[in-house]
Amino acid sequence: MSHYQAPVRDFLFVLDEVLGVSAYGNVEGFGDVGTDLATTIIGEAAKLAEDVIAPINQMGDQQGCHFENGVVTTPSGYREAFRAYAEGGWIGVSADPDHGGQGLPHVYASVIGEMMASASLAFETYPGLISGAIEAIERHGTPEQKETYLPQLIAGKWGGTMNLTEPHCGTDLGLIKTRAEVKDDGSYSLTGTKIFITAGEHDLTENIIHLVLARIPGSPEGVRGISLFIVPKFLASGDSEGSMEVTRNNVVCSSVERKMGLKASSTCVMSFDSATGYLLGESNKGMRAMFTMMNAARLGVAIQGIGVSESAYQMASTYARERCQGRALNGPAKPNQVADPIIVHPDVRRMLLTMRAYNEGARALALWTGLQIDLSRKHPDQGTRRNASDFVALMTPVIKACFTDMGFESANLGLQCFGGHGYVSDTGIEQLVRDARITQIYEGTSGIQALDLVGRKLPAHAGRYLRSLFHPIDSFIQENGEDPELKDFVLPLAKSFARVQQATSWIVEHGMQNPEHGAAGASDYLRMLGLVALAYMWARMAKISLSQIQKGSEDRQFYEGKLDVGRFFMARILPDTSSLLSKISSGADPVMRMPSEAF
Ligand SMILES: Cc1cc2nc3c(=O)[nH]c(=O)nc-3n(C[C@H](O)[C@H](O)[C@H](O)COP(=O)(O)OP(=O)(O)OC[C@H]3O[C@@H](n4cnc5c(N)ncnc54)[C@H](O)[C@@H]3O)c2cc1C
Repeated sequence: MSHYQAPVRDFLFVLDEVLGVSAYGNVEGFGDVGTDLATTIIGEAAKLAEDVIAPINQMGDQQGCHFENGVVTTPSGYREAFRAYAEGGWIGVSADPDHGGQGLPHVYASVIGEMMASASLAFETYPGLISGAIEAIERHGTPEQKETYLPQLIAGKWGGTMNLTEPHCGTDLGLIKTRAEVKDDGSYSLTGTKIFITAGEHDLTENIIHLVLARIPGSPEGVRGISLFIVPKFLASGDSEGSMEVTRNNVVCSSVERKMGLKASSTCVMSFDSATGYLLGESNKGMRAMFTMMNAARLGVAIQGIGVSESAYQMASTYARERCQGRALNGPAKPNQVADPIIVHPDVRRMLLTMRAYNEGARALALWTGLQIDLSRKHPDQGTRRNASDFVALMTPVIKACFTDMGFESANLGLQCFGGHGYVSDTGIEQLVRDARITQIYEGTSGIQALDLVGRKLPAHAGRYLRSLFHPIDSFIQENGEDPELKDFVLPLAKSFARVQQATSWIVEHGMQNPEHGAAGASDYLRMLGLVALAYMWARMAKISLSQIQKGSEDRQFYEGKLDVGRFFMARILPDTSSLLSKISSGADPVMRMPSEAF
């Protein structure tokens, strides 16, 4: 039986009432998606997640991937589930309809991504990487490359990968050694080793399209000398029907990593031995092209964090209503039973509410970011496009790090609610802890996201990116500051907003004197900005909920639930901004004073 029920009501609340997506009918892609169609699409994706993907999650963890003679076999049920996913058109949900995609706005793809990650994080990595490859080829491919690869990737006949990491370089991609030498016909010959490549080899698709970062001899040193290549497992003929020559390319999986979690997702060592590749985009501009894929992937990973967190909450809250231990402090809740369900205990409720406050706030913020991606690309007004693009640039590292940290924390809290029954394997919650851990590492560690925020995004265009978040928060506070009904929300939001402004000034001022001041507090600053952005989403959700209750909504229970969880967030999570401010303004000294030899 499925451990997961998609939070469809909450998705529709965020899309319709918080973001008002129906107001964007003038933006390409939105016009055709009315509320009814959106509800149908979300309902269908929910069925797939609950009935097809969630049931294979635990089995996938137990069986893992099998590797023999360069061949990877995925666990039982994976091939059937992948077929159902592909045939439902979910891989190309937001891809260009000219190549077989559904052309749905990104914001809906984010909804679908969360459901699939909740159902099975390991399974979701396969279609997730294909979507990233589609996006990179859509943005940087030649018309011929688009014709050759996109229809097959979108249909799920071919898989996709992202090959960056090498044994000696993960974060510092300027150190890449894989070589790409040009051949007489204009194609390239690639030689080198890549490690940790997700979906590098598997049995779900008939071909795999590797996107590979490599260096053309004579290129500049560092990241400015890296190019991006398409390296198919089987070489494609390139005709418009997408048929391929069955010629095996010289790229093979030489082993599969044994790892802590995500066991059903194949993590491969890939050997390129004069493999044929084709340049994607311009030479030496590979990092720029790869960033298209990485930015999309970072948002995807942020959503994986929410997906795991939602799953953990659902498992833990069900268990907490059933497991009976001890008595409620103010008298028995179930006097006819020998003990009360553990949900009566304040400490259990603290854990459940923390998880739920993360999930619902993060969902709203992730979908707001997804909407801004659509607006940044397709809104007819240039100013709106630029503002949306600023917002996405700012929030990509914030939500990647913040939501994956929260996802892991939630999975851990969920396990704690199960006590010893969470630590043993049967209940399935310990798998979530192991699976969630990787989200804080791949696509750039949380620490690297923080440096991106403080080192690049804050100073960009004299703070312009930051204004795309600060302006709406400031306006909300100005407009609602006097509303007594909203004081539990606006007051804490205003206080934490003042703190993050103080922290920003501190970092800008002191970071100019010594970059280590900014770097030492970067992770704390990212967390703080994430919490303030979540507080803003909670305040907006509270305003809508209060108004619905006043109007006598039939769904009063839903809106009252929002207010309860929102109040918990404001009272019990947001105050962390105060200690974060103290940490940030202690500067580099407490972190850097001790000499490296003393560790
Ligand atoms: C299961 C799994 C799947 C993966 N999938 C893929 C994939 O599909 N494709 C792919 O190319 N890669 C993939 N990776 C690799 C992943 O992206 C890297 O592991 C990650 O980017 C970190 O690189 P690293 O492991 O080399 O760590 P390092 O770069 O060695 O970093 C080690 C630590 O030092 C910190 N650090 C490094 N540099 C700095 C700095 N300048 N300032 C501050 N801190 C720093 C890091 O934050 C980290 O905490 C995968 C990895 C795993 C485990």
